[in-house]
Formats: sequence, structure tokens, C-alpha cells
Amino acid sequence: MSDATSPDRPPPPPAQADDKDWTWVLEQPCPECKAEVGGLSVDDVADKNREVATAFANLLRTRPDVADRPVADVWSPLEYGAHVLDVFRLFLTRLELMLAEDDPMFANWDPNETAEADRYDLMDPTQVADDLEAAAAALASRFEGLTPNQLERTGRRSDGAVFSVLSFARYEIHDPIHHLWDVTR
Ligand SMILES: [Zn+2]
Repeated sequence: MSDATSPDRPPPPPAQADDKDWTWVLEQPCPECKAEVGGLSVDDVADKNREVATAFANLLRTRPDVADRPVADVWSPLEYGAHVLDVFRLFLTRLELMLAEDDPMFANWDPNETAEADRYDLMDPTQVADDLEAAAAALASRFEGLTPNQLERTGRRSDGAVFSVLSFARYEIHDPIHHLWDVTR
């Protein structure tokens, strides 16, 4: 086993902390990835989740530099892929919470802590690719099955941001689109 895949290797340093709020993507196009999510329906969001997951998974399966960081404090495509996989899973968990409880508060999630604890850097890119497509498909199916009444249910982040299920769906899809842009720009 090479150094690059040894579990004895210490985890890489955390990526640049991303403490931006990002809820502005609901109101205006993202100047970086160009995504315009504010007018999307949940069916649009479902389709885009599947599309982005397929593109990301193909990249994870084929990029020769998949585990290389471009600079020391920016995630490799593999680490971004593992993060996006967790985003799909986290948003499905939060969606189920919004459907089951009235106006729930979401538990905090620190992506850098998770990246280090779960050793994103040591994951198998092919496995991440498979899991990414499955998790995106599960979330997409759940979005497609929502009734109009369910779209108006709400949930809150601890920083005070309030989402309806519809705005939550629009907010969600920006994340994988933006990270695909991160690894292909
Ligand atoms: Zn963006």
C-alpha cells in the first residue's frame, strides 16, 4: 500500500472555512457557478440532483488526479465528492424532519470536522461515486413525491435562517452545482 492510501497517514489540514450564509442564492444567481435556483420547482430540483450526481460520479471514476488537492487548503475532487454525498444524505434527513415535525431546528453540521473524522481523503472514489448517485436519487425521489401542502412546511437553522420545504429544495441544489463547479473550473 502506498503512502497515498495508508490509513496511518495523518489527515490533511482543514479546507478554508466556509462560513458564508449562502441563503442569498435564493434571491439572485450565484456569481461563481452561475446557478439560478430561486425559480426552480421541486421537480426541477429533483432532475438537477440526478444530473449533477451523474456528472460528479463520472468525474470521480475517471479523474487521474481525483485525490490531489489543487492547493493545501482546498479539497481534492474526492473530498468534494464525499462532502456532496454527505450533503445529499443530510438534506434528506432534514427534509424528513421538516415533514415529520412542525418547524424543527436543524442540528449543526461542521463539514470540516466530518471530513477529518470520516477521512474523506482516504475514501474509495468509485465507492463514493456509486453512493453519490444512490443518495442523489433517493433525495430526488423524495422531492418529486411532495404534495403542495408539504412544500409550505418549514424548518430552521440555528443561525436564524428559515426555510420552507420549497426554498430548502432550491437552496439544496445550489450546493452540489457549486461544488461541481469547484472541481471543474
Ligand atoms: Zn454557486
